[in-house]
Amino acid sequence: MHDLTPNRPALPPEIARRRTFAIISHPDAGKTTLTEKFLLYGGAIQMAGQVRAKGEARRTRSDFMQMEKDRGISVSASAMSFDFKTFRFNLVDTPGHSDFSEDTYRTLTAVDAAVMVIDGAKGVESQTQKLFEVCRLRDLPILTFCNKMDRESRDTFDIIDEIQENLAIDVTPASWPIGVGRDFMGCYDLLRDRLELMDRADRNKVAESIEINGLDDPKLVEHVPAHLLAQLKEEVEMARELLPALDPQSVLEGHMTPIWFGSAINSFGVKELMDGIGTYGPEPQPQKASPREILPEETKVSGFVFKVQANMDPKHRDRVAFVRLASGHFKRGMKLLHVRSKKPMAISNPVLFLASDRELAEEAWVGDIIGIPNHGQLRIGDTLTEGESLRVTGIPSFAPELLQTVRAADPMKAKHLEKALMQFAEEGAAKVFKPSIGSGFIVGVVGALQFEVLASRIEMEYGLPVRFEPSQFTSARWVSGDKQAIDKFVNSNKQHIAHDHDGDIVYLTRLQWDIDRIERDYPELKLTATKEMM
Ligand code: GDP
Repeated sequence: MHDLTPNRPALPPEIARRRTFAIISHPDAGKTTLTEKFLLYGGAIQMAGQVRAKGEARRTRSDFMQMEKDRGISVSASAMSFDFKTFRFNLVDTPGHSDFSEDTYRTLTAVDAAVMVIDGAKGVESQTQKLFEVCRLRDLPILTFCNKMDRESRDTFDIIDEIQENLAIDVTPASWPIGVGRDFMGCYDLLRDRLELMDRADRNKVAESIEINGLDDPKLVEHVPAHLLAQLKEEVEMARELLPALDPQSVLEGHMTPIWFGSAINSFGVKELMDGIGTYGPEPQPQKASPREILPEETKVSGFVFKVQANMDPKHRDRVAFVRLASGHFKRGMKLLHVRSKKPMAISNPVLFLASDRELAEEAWVGDIIGIPNHGQLRIGDTLTEGESLRVTGIPSFAPELLQTVRAADPMKAKHLEKALMQFAEEGAAKVFKPSIGSGFIVGVVGALQFEVLASRIEMEYGLPVRFEPSQFTSARWVSGDKQAIDKFVNSNKQHIAHDHDGDIVYLTRLQWDIDRIERDYPELKLTATKEMM
């Protein structure tokens, strides 16, 4: 086993023990199952985002969950904290479906590492690849779990080769499977020279560990049938010759991923993976910000909003901003500077979410995720500090690729609809444009499924049936620049002008030609497909 010298020796122990990570995977690879096992071993202490409200509210929430279930997608990201050995894990959940990638991308700005789950029979699938690319942009350390080894799976070398080739990352085996499919009996732990045997009879039983003194230990014969043992020895010898050895520094830099083989549903390989997260995790990392980077060992508190969720409890029309702490030791009641508005904010009721109810967070450390209820002041990308004017950078915004008009089925309810839409816009769930001429709103999203989710949320959370219809526009551009030039531009393009939820001016069109023409005719204006998130 490699001993890691911590890469940030100045970190106080409370911070150094934190591991904040996300799971990336293709739908169906086993993320949910693995999460459940993490919680089982970890003894979940807090869960954010999965509020199970009572009575009426519960029905609403679970209906929504039903939709997630029916479609096999999970729509809302959430954060869960649990202790494992000496570590505090913060698992930030990411929605799995590609239509929710905006949310997912932003979530990945709030973690220090990612666990990539792949299905042993399928290898690297499209969604995994996409998410991996996002992790790569940030050089996030990635730990790999090859799941479903209890089923017929592909050859171990094939799986490793595919990851290396498709994702251009070095792969080093942390464990090696013994037998495939029905014959799969467990793994040889290459980091600790241990035999881990799976119990097929009891899915929740932790695997039996047998200390082994290397692959020539005669004890192996007592546990592994001769033909499987011969194969194991041969494969491990080959693996050690052909595959790179584990280099913790390279893992930290995102150039190498250790891979564990297991079966989440059988609780197998999960503990080894958790040990791996603890060892190679890493601890909270510096946060890119302007005008300077924020270091986790700084004593002053800072944090940033990476997600806003409205109506988590439909009884209260509030929003919760999910904040990742980037530095300092946060205590409830602190006054922090909301850098964008330059206004102080007393954070008197920050929440962590217990499995069933909201609970006040008395304190939090770097790496932790806290929820701050608010009435819309906190937006995605906002930074909170103890006074310094810092802005966390690198939180992506995406160009809306699909536009549709939305109308309330009951025209008398237009005002309600506006309110609902504004809330979703602030959550970052969609872009909302109010055309300066005509009625109705235009909604812009990245993936088509988002329209359906929005329609169902507006109906459930606001009791407002709505219709989405094709819009005459297909592209949106934010317009910025000199005020006079903007006024002139707006006056002569009224049919194409709309305002977003912040009141900023947006140009809508269906022709790229229009955009080119404006760029030519109004060189003093800037047209952008995305809006900075701050
Ligand atoms: P997610 O879509 O990635 O969250 O995947 P789930 O955790 O919901 O798992 C998808 C399906 O695979 C479910 O039917 C699980 O029961 C099943 N599954 C998960 N882990 C394993 C495993 O280790 N072995 C087998 N055979 N099935 C598994």
